[in-house]
Amino acid sequence: MIKFNEPFYTGNEISHIQALMATKKLQGSCDENKSTDYLKQIMQSEEVFLVHSCTAALEIAALALDIKPGDEVIMPSYTYVSTANAFVLRGAKIIFVDVDEKTMNIDLVEVEKAITPQTKVIVPVHYGGVSCDMAALLVLANKHDIVIVEDAAQALFSKYQTQYLGTIGHLGCVSLHETKNITAGGEGGILFVNDKKLVNKIKMIVEKGTNRSEFLSGRINKYTWQTVGSSYLMSQLNAGFFMAQIEGAHDITKRRTAIFKSYLKGLADLIDNKRIETLEIPAYNEANGHLFYIKTRDESERNQLKNFLKSKHIESTSHYEPLHSSVAGKKYGTYVGTDRVTSKDSKRLLRLPLHMHLSNADVEEVIMRVKEFYDDV
Ligand SMILES: *Cc1c(COP(=O)(O)O)cnc(C)c1O
Repeated sequence: MIKFNEPFYTGNEISHIQALMATKKLQGSCDENKSTDYLKQIMQSEEVFLVHSCTAALEIAALALDIKPGDEVIMPSYTYVSTANAFVLRGAKIIFVDVDEKTMNIDLVEVEKAITPQTKVIVPVHYGGVSCDMAALLVLANKHDIVIVEDAAQALFSKYQTQYLGTIGHLGCVSLHETKNITAGGEGGILFVNDKKLVNKIKMIVEKGTNRSEFLSGRINKYTWQTVGSSYLMSQLNAGFFMAQIEGAHDITKRRTAIFKSYLKGLADLIDNKRIETLEIPAYNEANGHLFYIKTRDESERNQLKNFLKSKHIESTSHYEPLHSSVAGKKYGTYVGTDRVTSKDSKRLLRLPLHMHLSNADVEEVIMRVKEFYDDV
């Protein structure tokens, strides 16, 4: 069986966890450690918090920005539920818009049309680690005084021009879930705080709304409740696991990008002949090989291909159901503008296996089977 995804271990996870256990400090902390130090340095972010998921990072963002009932948050309908939930939890109304068919990223023309005086936040989702057009988005946001929270869940180590994704908007949220390129041992997330003004508040939000981090650093002798917060910090055991993965990050990105390119090359004829479509990586983007997908003619062809691959022991999977068509999406959000791409393309999108345990022969096998399917069809 060629699996769709399998977590990868660099081999140093246990030794890092043991070293942290020896310190007898297992609780999460806002203090810098080796991995946040490294991330801050190479990625140029004001402050980096390790948290227990990207979902948590998004929730912290909504709390830090004081999102209230009546506020509107614009995001693509084609995204994971956490992008919306974080803001719905604060009472906001979600404004879903269409995506660009080349990248499945938020369509900026639709964003502009959806902006109202109530718009507080725009959430670009860098789907598959492929960057949204951040320069154009920032121009739009600055013009209307709107905050950008990047959902960079899949985008760790991808770049827009020379800048890392997650470090460009006011806040950036990354996932370290086991299905992403790099994991903190199953669950984990990173919050990049790029707006200096938000740092102190976030230090309290992640410590249950208290000024405990000031207490731990010895600046005050008692900590108290200051603001609305929750328990968001990553356990040190997960941070240890993450450290080992960070050490392997360069090789992981390199290998995944190579697999991505093999798929693109192997399927070039089918793409050129318009039998299938795939994503187009914009010139401004350096991607991280998070996922590779193709788009079939329609849903029924997609399902046939999926079943065919399954019969050849290859796993492949569809992705998001558009949020605006879901039960909660209808209740907490509205779709604004036309639905040219979202519903149609989510039904014909199929993700192919992409992970560190794939051999070159596995990749060739997947390519060969996809081609076989199309010669037969
Ligand atoms: C995976 C993912 C999330 C959620 O990440 P968790 O770390 O599992 O909370 C949010 N948004 C997007 C786009 C994702 O792909």
